[in-house]
Amino acid sequence: MSQFWSDVVAGLTPYVPGEQPKLPDLVKLNTNENPYPPSPRVLDAIRGELGDGLRLYPDPNADRLKAAIANRCGVAPTQVFVGNGSDEVLAHAFLGLLKHDAPLLFPDISYSFYPVYCGLYGIGWRAVPLTDSFEIRIEDYLDAPDCGGVVFPNPNAPTGRLLPRSEIERLLAGRPNQVVVVDEAYIDFAAESGNESAIGLVDRHPNLLVVQTLSKSRSLAGLRVGFAVGQVDLIEALERVKNSFNSYPLDRLAIAGAVAAIEDGAHFEATRQAVIRSRERLVEDMAALGFAVLPSAANFIFARHPERDAGELAAALRARSIIVRHFPQPRIEQFLRITIGNDAQCAALVAALGEILAA
Ligand code: PMP
Repeated sequence: MSQFWSDVVAGLTPYVPGEQPKLPDLVKLNTNENPYPPSPRVLDAIRGELGDGLRLYPDPNADRLKAAIANRCGVAPTQVFVGNGSDEVLAHAFLGLLKHDAPLLFPDISYSFYPVYCGLYGIGWRAVPLTDSFEIRIEDYLDAPDCGGVVFPNPNAPTGRLLPRSEIERLLAGRPNQVVVVDEAYIDFAAESGNESAIGLVDRHPNLLVVQTLSKSRSLAGLRVGFAVGQVDLIEALERVKNSFNSYPLDRLAIAGAVAAIEDGAHFEATRQAVIRSRERLVEDMAALGFAVLPSAANFIFARHPERDAGELAAALRARSIIVRHFPQPRIEQFLRITIGNDAQCAALVAALGEILAA
């Protein structure tokens, strides 16, 4: 607290990201990064940008990137918004589309940045409890007496559970006067990501905004690129916020790298399938160790052991240089969220848990 702070700053409760420790030989399974490198074409494209061109501002509209995303998603470039990570895209959606007199609704267990944006922008909100099996129940959102909008991750984070597209469509049809933001940060790790993504619903539902990121399935958390797809007037709202905030959220390297990542479908498919295979194996190995694991369509699992305290397990793993995420909050304090690593990392995790449980 300082005499120089504005009232807004004094009242904030900022988001705390998963830690990024700089320790050698760490098995880092705490922030849902991809264990595989980005496409080599991304690195070539970024190298190609290193030169005199950096003297000049990037394209404020990132038109090349919008065209590449539009082409991949089967929409028009005017239906695409791009930003500095999907966190920034979400922030603009909160301010531009979700701030209304009635409260914004989101699940009680979901991405913990949502209440932070509400605090920053003065948006009223209400948490809607997931069911006992940690599922989103659409009726709870349809029946809510007052609702200024809805946002949820799909698959949900940190549970990993996928809401079928038919359920999303029911919500969109039943709440035609509110914007529904579907945060698909992890959708590409659903087995049939193309069929599960809500992007296919955008043309039929003017109230739908779908947000995705290159941080997870394109192995580019370090480049900071996210995007949204929706009908033109929703995208225009985001552009108005962006152009009142930062004209150049994506630099030249990010635009070039992101275009190459979107265009390398083969690398995307191979690494996505490798993560899905590792997840299936890890779920089996964890079950064999006695863990209960929620069904996951993401690049992480959410698991609890019926006899062992999750905080103690996380600490014991950390003592073995393996870090996972533990959220000491009601309903989920006995769960661990574990990112799917490569085969060696998954094997190290399973071996360490075996030792810890045997001790
Ligand atoms: N949505 C969800 C559900 C997430 O877990 C994350 C990653 N923390 C994000 C959005 C933001 O990802 P990024 O800003 O890297 O695109």
